[in-house]
Amino acid sequence: MTRIRVLPPEVAGKIAAGEVVERPASVVKELVENALDAGAADVRVELQDGGKRLVRVVDNGSGMGQEDAVLCFRRHATSKIASEEDLGRIQSLGFRGEALASIAAVSRLTLKTSDGATERGTQVVREAEKLVSVSDTAFPRGTSVEVRDLFFNLPARRKFLRSDRSELTLIAKYLTTAALAHPGVRFVLQHGGREALNAPPVAGLRERVFQLYGRTVLDGLIELDYAEGEGRASGLASSPLAGRLDRAHQFFFVNLRPVRDRILQAALNQAYAGRLEKDRSPEAFLFLTAPFAEVDVNVHPAKSEVRFADAQAVFRLVLRAVEAAMGRGSGVKAVYPSGAAAPADGPRVEEEQKSLGLPRGGPGEAVESGRRWTSSLPGVRESGSPAGPQLLGQYLDMYIVAAAAEGLLVIDQHNAHERVLYEKYLEIDRARAWPRKTLLVPVVIDLSPAQVASFEENAALLDELGFGAEPMGGRSLAIKEYPDIFRTEEARDVFLALLEEAGDDRPADRRARFLATLACKTAIKAGQPLTGEKMAYLVEELFRTSQPALCPHGRPVVVRLERAQIEKGLRRRETP
Ligand code: ADP
Ligand code: MG
Repeated sequence: MTRIRVLPPEVAGKIAAGEVVERPASVVKELVENALDAGAADVRVELQDGGKRLVRVVDNGSGMGQEDAVLCFRRHATSKIASEEDLGRIQSLGFRGEALASIAAVSRLTLKTSDGATERGTQVVREAEKLVSVSDTAFPRGTSVEVRDLFFNLPARRKFLRSDRSELTLIAKYLTTAALAHPGVRFVLQHGGREALNAPPVAGLRERVFQLYGRTVLDGLIELDYAEGEGRASGLASSPLAGRLDRAHQFFFVNLRPVRDRILQAALNQAYAGRLEKDRSPEAFLFLTAPFAEVDVNVHPAKSEVRFADAQAVFRLVLRAVEAAMGRGSGVKAVYPSGAAAPADGPRVEEEQKSLGLPRGGPGEAVESGRRWTSSLPGVRESGSPAGPQLLGQYLDMYIVAAAAEGLLVIDQHNAHERVLYEKYLEIDRARAWPRKTLLVPVVIDLSPAQVASFEENAALLDELGFGAEPMGGRSLAIKEYPDIFRTEEARDVFLALLEEAGDDRPADRRARFLATLACKTAIKAGQPLTGEKMAYLVEELFRTSQPALCPHGRPVVVRLERAQIEKGLRRRETP
C-alpha cells in the first residue's frame, strides 16, 4: 500500500522553502518529527561525534511499505497533506515532504522500515543524490534512519559545524522539548555508546517535568489551565516565589509543536511583571491549543515559528491563564487552604527538634508556641470552616500580617519561607534527588585549616547534597558542582556556611542541620518587599507544612496578638 504522494507543483510552490538541514540537530529534529508523526511510542537517537559521523533514529511507529520507502526521498513527497486546503489545517509536525530528500542529498543514508503488513521490511541505501540499493530485510514494524558523514559532499558546510559537545547539547535540548510535548513516548539519546537521556513514558506533563528536572523545579511551578472560545492555554509555570535567573525553562508549544514566538514570550513576560523577584524570569511549560485553521505553521523552514490568525486573543489567553492560576492557588483572602492537613501536634515538634539536633533551652519556648498555635488554629479546628486568616499586608518589609478570628497573626517572612523550603529539601533529600548544576568554570576558594578539616570530614555528605568539590592542593578547593537551588554567586558562601556549621553539632544530626542551612540561605530575606500574591502564596505554603509554627532552626514563625488582648487594651471588654 502506498500512502505517499508527490505534491503537485502549485502546492509545493506555496511551501515556505528554505534550508532544513543545517546541522546534526536539524537532522535529529526532522527524523524525530517523522517518528512522532508515525505514532511511535519509542524513539531512540544514537549519535557519534555529535551527530557528524552518525545520526541514527529508530522508532516503532507505522513504518512504510516498499514503494513508500523508495518514494519518500523524492522532494515534495509526503503522506501528510495532499492539497492546498490541507496547508491551512496542518495537524502533523511535517508536511513539506522535503526533509528526507534534503538529508539524503548531503549524507550516506540507510533506511530500514516495515509497516508490519508482511514479514519482510525494506532497506534503501542512498549516497548523496544516488540510489545505491533497495533490498528486502528483516525488520520489525517501525523505521530506522541512519545518516552517516553529514555534509561529506559539502566540505564548506562541514567546516562550519560546531564542536561535538555543542551539537550534542543542541540535540539534547531538542529531545527534551519533544519529551515535554509527548510524555507518553519514550525518548532515548545515546552519544558514543553512552546514554545522555532516557525518559521512559510517564502519565503527563508534571511527571515529565519531575523526570527531566527533578522535584525542586516541579515544586516551583503551578498549574495553568484556562480556556476561552476555542483556545486553551495549559501547562505549568512559576509560582510567585520561584523563577530563574535564566530562561532555560521557557517552553512554548502550539498544538504540541515546539515554537519560538514573540507573542507568547511577551504575554508571559507581561503576565509575570511584578510577580517575581526583579532579576528572575518565569519558568513556563506552556501549551497552547487552538483550532488548526487558526494557526499557520507554514511560515519558517524549520517549522519552529507560527502565525496566529488572532494574535491578540492568544496574548490575552496566556495573560489570563497565569492570572487565573495565581488567583486559584492563593487568593489574597483564602489563605488557609481548605484541604490542607492540620499542623502537627506537640510530639511531632519534639521529634523534629530532635532530628534537627537543636540545642536544649531556647527552642523549648518555641515548642510551647508551636503547641499554642496548633491548639487554636483560627477558624479551622472549631468550626471546620475553610475561612482562614485574611492577609492584611506587610509590616516593615519583614512581617506578614494577617487577621484571624481570634486575633492578629504576625508571620516572620524569612522564618516562614525557611520552614517551607526546609520541608521541600527534606523531601528532595529523602529521594536523593538533588539537582546538580555543573560550573563551566569551577569556583576556587581558600579554606582555613579548620574548614579543611571540616571538608575532609563532610565531603561525602556534601557530595550527596549536590556539592561536587575537589581539593586543589594546599588549602585551595574547587567547587565544580552545587545543588541547583541558588545562584552561582552564592555557591561559595553557602558552601562555607555549611563547613562552619558542621563543627557545632553532633555528626548524627548533621544532615538535617545542613538542610536547615540550605533553607536559610535560599529563603526570602527580611527587608524584602513582597507583593500580596507572594505573601498569600507563602502563607498558604506555610500552613501546608508539618510544623508551621517553627522555622527549622527552632525559632518561632508566628506570633499572635489575641483578640482578647486587643480588646482589653482598648477597654472594650472586661476580662476575668
Ligand atoms: P514530511 O514529514 O514533511 O511528510 P519527510 O521528507 O520528512 O516529509 O518524509 C516523507 C514521508 O516519508 C512522510 O510523509 C512519511 O509518509 C514517510 N516517513 C518518513 N519518516 C517516517 C517514519 N519514521 N515512519 C513512517 N513514515 C515515515
Ligand atoms: Mg518530516
